[in-house]
Amino acid sequence: MGNQMAPLPPFLPHLQALHVVVVGLDAAGKTSLLYHLKFQEFVKSAPTKGFNMEKIRVPLVGSRTITFQVWDVGGQEKLRPLWRSYMRRTDGVVFVVDSAEVERLEEARVELHRIVCSSENQGVPVLVLANKQDMAQALPVAEVEKLLGLHELCTSALNHIQGCSAVSGLGLQQGLEKLYEMILKRKKLLRNNKKKH
Ligand code: GDP
Ligand code: MG
Repeated sequence: MGNQMAPLPPFLPHLQALHVVVVGLDAAGKTSLLYHLKFQEFVKSAPTKGFNMEKIRVPLVGSRTITFQVWDVGGQEKLRPLWRSYMRRTDGVVFVVDSAEVERLEEARVELHRIVCSSENQGVPVLVLANKQDMAQALPVAEVEKLLGLHELCTSALNHIQGCSAVSGLGLQQGLEKLYEMILKRKKLLRNNKKKH
């Protein structure tokens, strides 16, 4: 799978330092996803104990690249309050969910809504990755979408759900492209609003 993004819009120079936060319950596949994006392959990982911050550089059409700053925050209960501090000034949120663990989808739904609807995140684009689609027991994306209540998410938020596998890499590129699109859309909206006031 290539790592090519859509052609650059003319105003991209202002957008080169994008901040994207990756969150989700523990064992959803965040670390695996990060490694896949960085090294283009699957690396077996142990659950994140503290947190690690990584930057991934995604090549764009031509010779330019865009750097995504990705925060991988462990989903363990005691670490959750930390999420908030990483959310400030973020351009986009990637919420990773394990599509094969039906019993924890309700817990994931509560966390997703809490994050997206918190005051500091109002309007921040959200990409939900319905991960582990390679597993036989994985729920279809439409089902995950329903159980996560994506349609009832705070109305101001731009959001999109994408099925993927951090093992095969399937769906990751499409998901990121969609997030990138939503980020540009929001920046444009914010700029237009500024002009009006
Ligand atoms: P994190 O706690 O969210 O960082 O989750 P990890 O990336 O550590 O993944 C938790 C477990 O799920 C690990 O055993 C991974 O190998 C496995 N895993 C992650 N993504 C996938 C996937 O897309 N498919 C399958 N089959 N296993 C996955
Ligand atoms: Mg991890």
